[in-house]
Amino acid sequence: MIVPRSFANQTVAVFGLARSGISSVRALIAGGAKVYAWDDRQPAQRTCAELGARVAPIAAWPWDRIAALVLSPGVPLTHPAPHEVVTAARKAGAEIIGDMELFARERRSAPGTSPRPPLIAITGTNGKSTTTALIGHILASCGYAAEIGGNIGKPVLDLNTPAPRTAYVLEVSSYQIELSPSLAPDIGVLTNITPDHLDRHGSMENYVAVKTRLLEQTAKAGEVCIGVDDAYCAAIHSRFAAGDGPQAVPVSVGKVLGRGVFVLDGVLYDAQSSHAAKIMDLRGTAHLPGAHNWQNAALAYAATRALVQDRPGIAEAIASFPGLPHRLQEVGRLGKVRFINDSKATNADAAERALKCFNDVFWIAGGRAKDGGIESLAPLFPRIRKAYLIGEAAEAFARTLQGTPYEICGTLDKAAAAAAHDAQVSNVAAPVVLLSPACASFDQFRDYEQRGDAFRALAGALGHARMREAS
Ligand code: ADP
Repeated sequence: MIVPRSFANQTVAVFGLARSGISSVRALIAGGAKVYAWDDRQPAQRTCAELGARVAPIAAWPWDRIAALVLSPGVPLTHPAPHEVVTAARKAGAEIIGDMELFARERRSAPGTSPRPPLIAITGTNGKSTTTALIGHILASCGYAAEIGGNIGKPVLDLNTPAPRTAYVLEVSSYQIELSPSLAPDIGVLTNITPDHLDRHGSMENYVAVKTRLLEQTAKAGEVCIGVDDAYCAAIHSRFAAGDGPQAVPVSVGKVLGRGVFVLDGVLYDAQSSHAAKIMDLRGTAHLPGAHNWQNAALAYAATRALVQDRPGIAEAIASFPGLPHRLQEVGRLGKVRFINDSKATNADAAERALKCFNDVFWIAGGRAKDGGIESLAPLFPRIRKAYLIGEAAEAFARTLQGTPYEICGTLDKAAAAAAHDAQVSNVAAPVVLLSPACASFDQFRDYEQRGDAFRALAGALGHARMREAS
């Protein structure tokens, strides 16, 4: 645990007691702060009371003594309207921060850790988790004690304190950036920017400004690695390249860069010095399928290259990356049929990336639909042998699919069984049963992880049933 001492002997309030909130309560108390905490959910209240926090609704907090409010990133700070706890904190003059700010302050003031462990922070609209996990994997493979957390995996204050060769690798969401004004990474990574979460940021301009802030906070002597394939990030890169801040490394998939890191026809090149050196063929990596993952791999290469001299070592680590659960993850086989779990694809954009990776798809889709449905996927419908539709969106998706064969299955278990059967008896050489729902899961599951786990279990059971039949 990282113990933040910046609020020793002061009163701090923590609002929103999910994983990072509980982690903040525990760490602040260990650092000598007096902590008030609140969340509507009783199990979280009990946990925090046991940790020594005073659990009380915000109206009962001693606002005149509260130095800071540690806010869960899930609680609206500005849009669509500030939450009442935000308004109360502002009125009382308490600063509003997140757990990453506590980490940042501790890091700045920590005595006796020389040299200070490097900090890599990753943000962007898509690919954050994959890039973060991959950077962690590369560093761990190249001799670092990689501490990976933030918006992925462990809350930042649950990471280990620095040891020799520690490197911190943090995924940072836009909400977390807003709450971390002094988080100063040595290497800042921006994957890409497309419109997202505008309800929480008010406008695209604001969203871009927040994402850019993490790069602006990057140490001047450090480096920013920017995916330059969308217009927003290209403009941000130009600004950094022309400025006197950290060194800016552009990263592209599809464009040859005079200087930077790029992927052409699946091959990764490093053109950071005078000529472009071929690093590796990404088409051979088992767990980074698709051009979107080449972007993640190229960014991870660029970010770790600043710390690791051994280029073949980085390439080997990229090749051995085991992938992340629920993102184009192979979870079973049944004869020639592969089962791919892409439950994290909760919108049409993400499902598009998955469909592009395969030619003959038995596609399981549906759940709670997002705006726009699956109309944008029409150019990819020829790849779909048949669609198996589940959840609330089934009827609407069926209407959009038009000429593509489909079946309304309702539930995931029916869809998986039907898709597996059809794929097996088809004349396709390499059929794929793909769960890439283009929908949120909340109508039938707790979250995308539970949905993906259910699919993995079904794929496993179908494989076993088949083995029993055969024996
Ligand atoms: P995040 O943490 O930003 O949500 P993930 O790495 O978890 O990103 O990937 C989530 C989904 O986003 C993936 O299933 C894939 O469909 C899509 N995705 C991943 N990387 C990229 C990328 N570089 N560009 C566009 N989409 C991506």
